[in-house]
Amino acid sequence: MNYQDDFRNKELVQGLARQIAALAKGKGPFTFMEVCGTHTMAIYQYGLRLLMPPEVRLISGPGCPVCVTPNGYLDRAIALSRLPNVIIASFGDMLRVPGSSSSLLRERAKGSDIRVVYSPLDAVQLAVKNPDKQVVFLGVGFETTAPTIAGSIMAADKLGLRNYFVLASHKTMPQPMSILSADPELALDGYLCPAHVSAVIGADAYRPLCEKYHIPCVVTGFEPADVMQGVEMLVRQAVAGESKVEIQYSRVVSWQGNLKAQEILAEIFEPCDADWRGIGTLPGSGLKIAERYCRFDAELAIPVEVEELKEHKGCQCGEILKGKVSPFDCPLFGKACTPENPVGACMVSSEGSCAAAYKYGR
Ligand code: SF4
Repeated sequence: MNYQDDFRNKELVQGLARQIAALAKGKGPFTFMEVCGTHTMAIYQYGLRLLMPPEVRLISGPGCPVCVTPNGYLDRAIALSRLPNVIIASFGDMLRVPGSSSSLLRERAKGSDIRVVYSPLDAVQLAVKNPDKQVVFLGVGFETTAPTIAGSIMAADKLGLRNYFVLASHKTMPQPMSILSADPELALDGYLCPAHVSAVIGADAYRPLCEKYHIPCVVTGFEPADVMQGVEMLVRQAVAGESKVEIQYSRVVSWQGNLKAQEILAEIFEPCDADWRGIGTLPGSGLKIAERYCRFDAELAIPVEVEELKEHKGCQCGEILKGKVSPFDCPLFGKACTPENPVGACMVSSEGSCAAAYKYGR
């Protein structure tokens, strides 16, 4: 198959659904989790849960980078945006995410200089053009976006810029999967492993997790036939009592991943403990700017007072990100909380579970 349409072929997808049903019949039940926001979107968009037999349940985990970023990070970004000589540069999704008492969008309406950029290198250019301002790029994301942000720090270093900073909140994926694998309440039977992240870190990164928790892992693509084949591979392993790492998305993902991207990450960042919304602090699950590049670290370089942390009453983003409840279980879903008026991060991001459920699942 060569073209996107081939992976959206209705007969192929329905054939895979029949194979999954035949394999799972009389076995299970099996619970599989996807930990990638693009998978979450695809599963809702193509109604793939409706194609699952009663023995197979698909649940969503912490796959959306904007959603897992805690309020404390947003509160710091908002506090920085209120400083007179600071320009905040960010990808668009972050602007609408509510912090403890405001959002970047509201701060922009009040006069803060907050710009949407399409690449971290655009933020470097902002710093070049505004030498009297401090430009802070909001560095949020998994291993997929972290190399581009590392690249921006390299570029700023090469240009000798003293007014470019990154407020870093990068997360790395295998660690939360370990925590969720050990949760008896979830009792997971397998993972649809993320595609973009795996293109960078390589499928080998899941072997320790797979071996420790005896949990099947299949790195899966984004089209409906990809997801259905990924589920079929998971059911096959679960029924056979196997636990191994497999690559369904072999047209993009290798066992070793992108070695150049890994090299750039290792140059600019070092592992750190990280706070995940709903999950808490996980040792070694984040990336902070390494000591030798610490002059680019906004948290160290620009001291600012940050307001006291508050969570939004009634919002269940934390439980949704752990796969414990679905968006439809939240009493605010579609009422007090909509994409136009989001209460929590999961309703804002284009990869958030609540946004996906609102757009396609109602
Ligand atoms: Fe939070 Fe809104 Fe999702 Fe409820 S529907 S969990 S309030 S984002």
